[in-house]
Amino acid sequence: GNKNINAKLVLLGDVGAGKSSVVLRFVKGQFVEFQESTIGAAFFSQTLAVNDATVKFEIWDTAGQERYHSLAPMYYRGAAAAIIVFDITNQASFDRAKKWVQELQSQGNANMVMALAGNKADLLDARKVAAEEAQVYAQENGLFFMETSAKTAANVNEIFHEIAKRLPRV
Ligand code: GDP
Ligand code: MG
Repeated sequence: GNKNINAKLVLLGDVGAGKSSVVLRFVKGQFVEFQESTIGAAFFSQTLAVNDATVKFEIWDTAGQERYHSLAPMYYRGAAAAIIVFDITNQASFDRAKKWVQELQSQGNANMVMALAGNKADLLDARKVAAEEAQVYAQENGLFFMETSAKTAANVNEIFHEIAKRLPRV
């Protein structure tokens, strides 16, 4: 029969990488050019049907500022999934994403489903991070990688769908 799964999901990544925009695209199908910075964290929920299950994502969109770093464990603790977002036009955001991956590997759930999102994939002319580099990094660190665009919607539903498929069926 059809299973109902509740899954806590956290978005982590540098300020400005597009975490809130990815969530807004997924939950409301919208994009805004001047997305306000997130204060602390914001909560959303969205349900997604996959083959054998209905997954209700309980989404924590974190701020990303260093001064909120100490709060992050509250959001990733007990999370079934994480999306670590970087901006393909910003090398520092990729470095920051790797730091988050390290933190999740040492402090997070052992069986957490982790996705690496190279966001702003619509800004190809400004690319600073090669897709191959991110792909290799993801493979070596047990994440799956997709390039997304909150602006065009490319791969946004797909990344949540892929997470839903990978969640353990209990
Ligand atoms: P956050 O700090 O990680 O939550 O990033 P935001 O979602 O606030 O986005 C930061 C800025 O990048 C905003 O001006 C967004 O409009 C812009 N942005 C987010 N995603 C994309 C994208 O996929 N493409 C482009 N071109 N801009 C984006
Ligand atoms: Mg935000």
